[in-house]
Amino acid sequence: MSLDPVIDEIAEVYRDVIGHYDPERSGVSVHVSFYPYVGINQTIRVRDGSVYVRIAEVCRDMPIDVHQALAHVLVAKLFRRRVPKRARELYAEYISSPQMRDRAAASRRDRGRKVITGTDGSFYDLEELFSDLNTKYFWGTLRKPKLTWSAKPTFRILGHFDSHHDTIVISRSLDSGDVPRYVIEYVMYHEMLHVFHPTVHHNGRRYNHTPEFRRDEERFEKFEEADIWIETNARKLKRNVKKGQSILRRIVR
Ligand SMILES: [Zn+2]
Repeated sequence: MSLDPVIDEIAEVYRDVIGHYDPERSGVSVHVSFYPYVGINQTIRVRDGSVYVRIAEVCRDMPIDVHQALAHVLVAKLFRRRVPKRARELYAEYISSPQMRDRAAASRRDRGRKVITGTDGSFYDLEELFSDLNTKYFWGTLRKPKLTWSAKPTFRILGHFDSHHDTIVISRSLDSGDVPRYVIEYVMYHEMLHVFHPTVHHNGRRYNHTPEFRRDEERFEKFEEADIWIETNARKLKRNVKKGQSILRRIVR
């Protein structure tokens, strides 16, 4: 319970939606808070049998039906169920409105002035790339690991998700005006999918790029263009990349 009737109303929505997926848990205790995330980011987690929901501060005045849609997006994810199409569309429509995009951008600018993250390159800002892609492809719900540029401009590995340190590392070689935004976005998106699809262990083997991973990868708007750009420019980036199989598959881990 809180003293904020809006928070109570939203918590009630979550209890209903949780009950919809799992009737036995409809009485679960739900804690909702608004959190000063950079941009639009929403999280749900379970701890000690209670559900904790953090909603981005920029979504404070979101209409209750959109909260309901977001609840479906988050709770379905929690239960590893398919997100209902209507909920996904309603929420996506709300966060992609010009007003919400402006707010998210303003929140990133404000934060950028206060915190030195080490993600702001000379050309691209990893924080901004992550936030935009999260909104566009993950309904703003992907949890954010640490983001960093590689110490050196590596050419063979353009991106890497280090699950041990929970860090996405993007090659400094991509922090350049010669690299189209969709290329670095593609590399970041690929690494974000590693956060979304954890490594599967099966018969003692590790599978990082499962069929589900590859299917989601193709949802990237400029998948083909990014693939072609990297194939074409990889030789410029690194002359001794071996010919033959798709270079992309080897340089984006
Ligand atoms: Zn990979």
